[in-house]
Amino acid sequence: MATDLYEVLGVKKTATADEIKKAYRKLARELHPDVNPDEKAQERFKQVTAAYEVLSDDKQRAAYDRGGPEDFGGFGANGFDLGDFVNAFFGGNGNQRGPRARMTRGQDALIRLRIDLSEAVFGVEKEITVDTAVACKSCDATGSASGSELVQCGMCKGRGEVSSVQRSFLGDVRTTRACPQCAGFGNVIEHPCTECSGEGRVRTRRTVKVAVPGGVDTGLRLKLAGQSEVGAWGGPAGDLYVEIVVNEHSSLKRSGDDLHLQITIPFTAATLGCSVSIPTLDGNKTLKVPAGIQPGTVLSVKALGATHLRGSGRGDLLVHVMVEVPTEVDAKQKKLLAELAALRGEEEPTATITSELQNDGFFAKLKDVFGK
Ligand SMILES: [Zn+2]
Ligand SMILES: [Zn+2]
Repeated sequence: MATDLYEVLGVKKTATADEIKKAYRKLARELHPDVNPDEKAQERFKQVTAAYEVLSDDKQRAAYDRGGPEDFGGFGANGFDLGDFVNAFFGGNGNQRGPRARMTRGQDALIRLRIDLSEAVFGVEKEITVDTAVACKSCDATGSASGSELVQCGMCKGRGEVSSVQRSFLGDVRTTRACPQCAGFGNVIEHPCTECSGEGRVRTRRTVKVAVPGGVDTGLRLKLAGQSEVGAWGGPAGDLYVEIVVNEHSSLKRSGDDLHLQITIPFTAATLGCSVSIPTLDGNKTLKVPAGIQPGTVLSVKALGATHLRGSGRGDLLVHVMVEVPTEVDAKQKKLLAELAALRGEEEPTATITSELQNDGFFAKLKDVFGK
């Protein structure tokens, strides 16, 4: 199989080293397995890479131009390690060859913040303690002990990568990997700072102020940009995410921006109507219960619910009114009730049959709201 390596890369025989490099980069970007998982593309990627390996090396290119070793033209899958080429071009610095930067961005972090319902409804400012990393003051985040500087890595001569040459059917194949001595940085910290062990940052515990807006609910995440750990060697800080967890309230349950409260009043009060004191997040309030209220009626009190997180105003407080039927009555009460029954013609009551279970929806809702 006599494939022309120049054709493979789509360049002229007279192409300069730079043109060859550009052509390869362009093809590699299109054909790289991460971008193009298609099998044909991968096969072509191998061909292109193998062609580039020959044509990018002056000696091998000259040999090829002279008509060189016969097996230059053939491409097999097992002649070289694709991973090495991929690493050489895509590892470390993306498409960039050369040493990688020491400075990296700090990691993002997630922390949970427990607050009470009233704090969630009205908003609150909290201080939280986070375990994080801050820039090392001792070495000014450089990682080097005061006075010392980074020195060029002796193994890779600052290139951050080392090459080795392997013989293969293609001729000599050069493979490149990150330098093991300097981990690809191209330089080494000769005298590491003792405070931070040469990382340029130290682990610490720090307090962070969190302004929780009114209207938040469990699961909501607040983003505090740049409040997470700083990166190594002076890198920028990551973001801190604060996830809200709202404590259960003893009597108020939340559903969206509305709050629900269940109260029980005596049957006499339900019949006659009454005013009762109810607990709300705005303190105790007087609720007027109209005469003849039926069990399960929901009375709505405007704007005593949770603050709307977006926009203005508040949700409502929904009061579910239950009616208590006495389980025990003394002789006098019994006599009075019997008289009342006689007055109302209810000594021999008849049951009213309703076609629907009209309270069903309400109980289902109650279960939803109060069943937790
Ligand atoms: Zn330090
Ligand atoms: Zn090195």
